[in-house]
Amino acid sequence: MDDREAIASNVLGARVGVLGAGQLGRMLGLAGRALGLELTFLDPNADSPAKAVGELLVSEYESAEALAQLASARVVTFEFENVPVGAVKALEARGTVFPGSRALEVAQDRLHEKTCFRSLGIATPKFEAVSSWPELAAALERVGLPAVLKTRRFGYDGKGQAVLRSEADAQAAFQQLGGAPLILEGFVPFQRELSIIAVRSRSGEIVSYPLVQNHHEGGILRKTLAPAPGVSEELQRVARRHIEKLLLHLDYVGVLALELFEVDGGLVANEIAPRVHNTGHWTIEGARTSQFENHLRAILGLPLGATDAVSSCAMLNVIGMAPDARAVLAVPDAHLHWYGKEPRPGRKVGHVTVLAPDATTLEERVAQLERILSV
Ligand code: AMP
Repeated sequence: MDDREAIASNVLGARVGVLGAGQLGRMLGLAGRALGLELTFLDPNADSPAKAVGELLVSEYESAEALAQLASARVVTFEFENVPVGAVKALEARGTVFPGSRALEVAQDRLHEKTCFRSLGIATPKFEAVSSWPELAAALERVGLPAVLKTRRFGYDGKGQAVLRSEADAQAAFQQLGGAPLILEGFVPFQRELSIIAVRSRSGEIVSYPLVQNHHEGGILRKTLAPAPGVSEELQRVARRHIEKLLLHLDYVGVLALELFEVDGGLVANEIAPRVHNTGHWTIEGARTSQFENHLRAILGLPLGATDAVSSCAMLNVIGMAPDARAVLAVPDAHLHWYGKEPRPGRKVGHVTVLAPDATTLEERVAQLERILSV
C-alpha cells in the first residue's frame, strides 16, 4: 500500500505494532483502544506494563521471527528509544515504520543530536566528542568548568553522566564512564528547564503543544507544570520554530519531544526524544487531544487533534512507592495513572495529573500531592 492509499483507507480495527511495552506503550495502547485499534507490542520483558492493553510478543528486539510478526501490522512505531536501529531498519525493509530509523539514529547519540541542532541553527551548550583522557583534558580547556561529561549513548534519567567542577571530578568521572564514547558539554546555568512536544502527520500537518516547565531531581523528572508559567509569545514561537525545523529535517512522523534550557530569556537545546514523552503525560487530561492519541493519528495519516491546554495543570511522577489511591483522588481534579509495575527506588511507577482553575489553587493541590507521593 503506498502512503496515499494508506491515508485514504479506513483505520478502524487496524493493527499498530510497537517496539517496547513499558508505560509509554501502555498509554499509547489505552488511546489506541479508544480509536478501535489493535496493538501488538514487542518487548523482552514478559511482565511489561503494556501487556494489559494489547498482544505482547516476548522476545529480544532483534529476533527475525518476532520482527516479521510485528511487520504485518498496518504501521509500526516505538515507545523506547534505545531499541536497536538494526531492528527498526529490518522493519522498514518489510513495512511502514514511523518515526523511522533516521530520527532514532540521531536521538541515540548525543554527539549526532547536538551536531544536528547546531546545523539547524538551534543553540546548544559548547560540546566536544571525547574518547580518551588526553582528549578530555584538551576539551576541558576549550569548554571550561563547570561541565557535564556524558556517555554518547544509552543514557537516561541522569544515568551515564557526571557534573565536573574540578580536574579531580574529571578524573573520577573519566574512570567511571571512560570505557564508552563520551561527550563533554558546557554546564548551562539555566533558570529553568522547559520542553516542547510537536506532532507531524504522514500528510505533513504539524501541531505543537504549549511549552511546559520541568523539575528534575537526581536526573529524574519529578514534576511538569503545563503550560509553563510566564512564557512570552516570542519564546513559544522560538521553541515551535526549533521543533518544526527538526521535524522537517528528520522527515519525521509522530510525536517528537525537545528538551530545552531557558537561559537569560533564550533557549538552549539539550536533547530530543523521538517518541511520546514523560513531559507530555499532562496532555491526557490537560489538553484537547493527548500526545498518545495524536501520535497514533499521525502515524496512521489521520487529521491531528487540537493541542491547546484546557486548564493549567501539573503532572507529578510517582517514583519508587505505591501511593494511597484514596488520598490522591481526594485532591480535587487529580487523576491517577498506575503502570502496574513493582515499586523500586528511583523507578517511575505511575503519575498524577492535577488540574486547577488558577495558579494559587494549583500550587496548593501540588503541595498536597507532593506530601502524599513523598517516600
Ligand atoms: P539529560 O540526560 O541530558 O536529559 O540530562 C539530565 C538532566 O541533567 C537535565 O534534565 C538537566 O537537569 C541536567 N543537565 C544535563 N545536561 C546539562 C548541561 N549541559 N548543563 C546543565 N545541566 C544539565
